[in-house]
Amino acid sequence: MTTIHTLGFPRMGAQRELKFALERHWRGEIDAAELEGVGRALRARHWQLQREAGLDFVSVGDFAYYDHVANHIQLFGCEPVRFGFTGQEASLARYFTLARGVAQESGASGEGRPALEMTKWFDTNYHYLVPEFTSESTFSLADERLFTEVAEAQSHGHPVKAVLLGPLSFLWLGKEKEANFDRLNLLERLLPVYEQVLARLKSMGVEWVQVDEPILGLDLPPSWRQAFEPTYTRLSVVGISLMLATYFSPLQENLSLACRLPVKGLHVDGVRAAREIAAVADWLPSHKVLSVGVVDGRNIWRTDLDEVLRQIKALRNTSTHALWLAPSCSLLHVPFSVQGEAGLDEEIRDWLAFAVEKLHELRVLKQALAGDVAAEGPLAQSRQAIQSRRSSPRVNNPKVTERLAGLSADADRRLSAFPIRQAAQRERFSLPLLPTTTIGSFPQTAEIRAARAAFKRDELSAADYEKAMKKEIAHAVAEQEKLDIDVLVHGEAERNDMVEYFGEQLAGFCFTGNGWVQSYGSRCVKPPIIFGDVSRPTPMTVAWSSYAQSLTQKPMKGMLTGPITILQWSFVRDDQPRSTTAAQIALSIRDEVCDLEKAGIGIIQIDEPAIREGLPLRREAWREYLSWATRAFRLSASGVADDTQIHTHMCYSEFNDILPEIAAMDADVITIETSRSDMELLDAFGKFKYPNEIGPGVYDIHSPRVPSVEEMERLLKKALETIPAGNLWVNPDCGLKTRGWPETNAALQNMVTATKALRTTLA
Ligand code: GLN
Ligand code: ZN
Repeated sequence: MTTIHTLGFPRMGAQRELKFALERHWRGEIDAAELEGVGRALRARHWQLQREAGLDFVSVGDFAYYDHVANHIQLFGCEPVRFGFTGQEASLARYFTLARGVAQESGASGEGRPALEMTKWFDTNYHYLVPEFTSESTFSLADERLFTEVAEAQSHGHPVKAVLLGPLSFLWLGKEKEANFDRLNLLERLLPVYEQVLARLKSMGVEWVQVDEPILGLDLPPSWRQAFEPTYTRLSVVGISLMLATYFSPLQENLSLACRLPVKGLHVDGVRAAREIAAVADWLPSHKVLSVGVVDGRNIWRTDLDEVLRQIKALRNTSTHALWLAPSCSLLHVPFSVQGEAGLDEEIRDWLAFAVEKLHELRVLKQALAGDVAAEGPLAQSRQAIQSRRSSPRVNNPKVTERLAGLSADADRRLSAFPIRQAAQRERFSLPLLPTTTIGSFPQTAEIRAARAAFKRDELSAADYEKAMKKEIAHAVAEQEKLDIDVLVHGEAERNDMVEYFGEQLAGFCFTGNGWVQSYGSRCVKPPIIFGDVSRPTPMTVAWSSYAQSLTQKPMKGMLTGPITILQWSFVRDDQPRSTTAAQIALSIRDEVCDLEKAGIGIIQIDEPAIREGLPLRREAWREYLSWATRAFRLSASGVADDTQIHTHMCYSEFNDILPEIAAMDADVITIETSRSDMELLDAFGKFKYPNEIGPGVYDIHSPRVPSVEEMERLLKKALETIPAGNLWVNPDCGLKTRGWPETNAALQNMVTATKALRTTLA
């Protein structure tokens, strides 16, 4: 008999019930008891779904009101001292304080407390709250939530598998808040609490605990690798069955280590580490359970069940392990159910499996492996869907394939080297020294949103919508002229989202109505689905940019989202390499770039804020990724003449380890975030002798604060220490769409004043 289980389930609910309850609670509309009621009902429903799908256990411990790492911070009693909790506060109130901070009070005594830092959970778009550690950190079993939830599931009669983040991953994901201190030193203090937790679970009759150690898929320093054996030797003494769960990345040099740890079972990611399964089966002692994640927990496609059955049968021939099947990772990263997609095209809908459907796939696999005839119907249905997806003319567009195959070797190269282009562009635009510009968006006011919403609901005609947007564009242009900015933008009023806007106009994309995935806390995103070959039927931005250019003598910058960012923020097809899909998107953007150029737009920005987050978890895989990612960018950018200026923008500042690749993108101008790090990053650009022009952000757009002229002048002077004046641009850190007009105008005014003052000293 095969056992089936899931590593975790989405928390938000079919209709994002948790999101709405959380937000009502934060607004003070419902109390904690009512919120807890919503949580309890969601858990009950989600466990019921797991049982209905025939799972042998329900997973308990994956639920969270904000984030599961934050749950562990409370469970282990390591809330940072800086929050000043007295212990009198309710645990949920403290929890939301950790997650959301305390706003600065206006009174003299009031001191805000910033929330825990948030960062990306491995290479997903889920953000966790970062534990803070110092040499003073202590741990104790301090929270009952996990045990309450276990009892809850048991009271419904469910067999329970509890889920915990493992001690090494928990420490690894935290951050040291003290110099010269290694958080690994806290392991000794932390382990007794894990022992207590496991003992409690055992006393409650829980048979299995899934302990997640995803860091086994990372490049670990030796001290961390060495810590695994003693840690798990200690935890094994408790005498509860541990399923060590790894996911997201191959184990590689940690494979034999993972196999020999004294735990009852090992889960491996059968999608991202498919090639390792045979080796794991080989290394794993035969008395242990082998859990294989055969259903992709990171994507929305139906599983090819025949293919999985073939692999499992082959595995069965060579290994005698008790076999468990599961999704590759927690289902947290996929939407709830395809049932919610009434509006999707039926053929495409049939290709998809969200969380609920993925559970059912496990059931069919289990039945098929047991020779149960009940599997036959669903297997046939699945086969048919897989066939339809493979052969559908909507997926396959021979023109796109031919175009890609026919690209010349230098299709991703500009006509001339940068110095020649720079001279041509100087000649064409005659910009002043230290040209000023912005990153693209101007404030998305309530009127803009209302107009767009009305247009989408068919309450505003296309003509009236266009009129409303043109008015916004004209306003943005007029403001920029008043400010005397050198290179203008149209302001992106017509864009809801920088990926969705393009996805909606590209062939090969579709959009779900309800395919929400948690990003952080109550925030969810609805990524587009790239199901087929991508092409651009008609121009997407030319009319707006041309209109904006018609209003001014100054150069108007065209504004596009780059291929890697579009790829990274979508669910991507799994039937061809990501690099191929990236190249297809790149060619579509290239078409747009060329059309903008033809329409007289001489400066075009291709945003790539997501290039860095696409980096593989394993460093050895970076080079390959960066090579196709930068090629995709160049493909999109290189169809233009020397005197057309290509900008790119990235809004983060960790470039040090990928500078050569950033340079290889060969954008004429790059704008980046630097104000929050006090231009520190520029050292790296300076040392590297970054050859092209660069606009380090001189002010932080994440806050309404208006920086002074002196502040920005100081930052610019600092930038001039590493960047030659002739290559330096002046701009904010990122787009302004979340800001209001008054602070935007004030900040940009100061930015221009600072620039002009500095110019006089350089002339
Ligand atoms: N052009 C986009 C804007 O200004 C860039 C957004 C981003 O970098 N995330 O909003
Ligand atoms: Zn940005």
